[in-house]
Amino acid sequence: MSILENNPYRKDFPLIDQIVDGKRLAYLDSANTTLKPLPVIEEMDRYYRAETSNIHRAHYWLSENATNKFEETRDKIAKFIHAPDRKQVIFTKGTTESVNLVAQSYVRKFLKAGDEILLSQMEHHSNIVPWQMAAKEKGIIIKKIPINQKGEIIFDEYKKLLSDKVKLVSVVHISNALGTINPVREMIKLAHTYGAKVFVDGAQSISHLPINVQDLDVDFFAFSGHKMFGPTGVGVLYGKEDVLNAMDPYQGGGSMIDRVTFEETTYNVLPLKFEAGTPPIAGVIALGKSVDYLNHVGINRIMEIEHELLAYATEKLLSIPGLKIYGTAEHKASVISFGIEGMHPNDIAFMMNKSGVAIRTGHHCAQPLMDFFQVPATCRASFSIYNNKEDIDQLYNALKKAVDLFKE
Ligand code: PMP
Repeated sequence: MSILENNPYRKDFPLIDQIVDGKRLAYLDSANTTLKPLPVIEEMDRYYRAETSNIHRAHYWLSENATNKFEETRDKIAKFIHAPDRKQVIFTKGTTESVNLVAQSYVRKFLKAGDEILLSQMEHHSNIVPWQMAAKEKGIIIKKIPINQKGEIIFDEYKKLLSDKVKLVSVVHISNALGTINPVREMIKLAHTYGAKVFVDGAQSISHLPINVQDLDVDFFAFSGHKMFGPTGVGVLYGKEDVLNAMDPYQGGGSMIDRVTFEETTYNVLPLKFEAGTPPIAGVIALGKSVDYLNHVGINRIMEIEHELLAYATEKLLSIPGLKIYGTAEHKASVISFGIEGMHPNDIAFMMNKSGVAIRTGHHCAQPLMDFFQVPATCRASFSIYNNKEDIDQLYNALKKAVDLFKE
């Protein structure tokens, strides 16, 4: 039976069946953050109720248990993204911190004035601003990879921008604002012929596509736990081992040291070199459960479900007069960014809220992309494995109602 009619995964997500302000909730904002399945919530609860202690530091049961579970998540993540070694998985606060870490520890150390960094027009601010901050300080030049009206990278223009001056290319795997799936494998291959490193922002792709960092041959790959059915406040930076070893720590503090005297400090080995201070222990442990959940459903099944949701929603929405979809790439994930002629996106969002429909409105932390499409904002509906036909019909009916009201 179609997932649209009978979705067996809904029951795993306690929040989905809520009545909000007297209305059935249609949660269509998973690109912003995904809902959490019960095993993730229970693991957080277990840690705080019965298993709280700090990690890597003490020799009593609680601490050893927490340390083991924390490190088990590292193993699970390494396997999930096919990292060659668990020590290449560094826990951060999220994608944003992962970008900042590389900007501070790699770019500031290895790039010099006149070197170039390439970023695409569709990047999230967190994949622009940290590079800009380092670039400003060092005299590095940032260049923009152009996109077409469908919201796809123009590969020929990318080719033209590459040269020996380019030391880093940073690109989003799936655009949060459009859903475009970028050809990162081909982009990485080409960048490497010029000796440039490639950073891939996997915030959106981690729970929507199979990720194999070795097959991609990517130098850095970053993602956030909260977009893969896991907790907020935790994320990952994957990096190639030789590059991570060559980098200096980003933050100093406990855990990241080997030996400290007032004269000098030597640093710990990977991954702890980059994990200063007490990490988000509960979050990392619970993230292990979200990886289990993703494996249980299976990434191929997730892609099938999301494809079905996207196709149904696209067809429905396009039947609304005056509705325009931004981002019509051939390879696209389960995101629909749209506007309605003559209506402000904030008014649309207001009306959606009144009907129990949760969508995001705004610039989606991608102002250069909004500038490209010459709009201040768009509405965005994004889908995940817990959505069904009713959610999409609720969005469609609310939009129809908004359009009819507006006409009056
Ligand atoms: N990149 C993309 C493509 C994203 O969608 C997001 C989150 N919206 C980020 C980066 C930043 O992630 P976080 O806020 O979890 O650090």
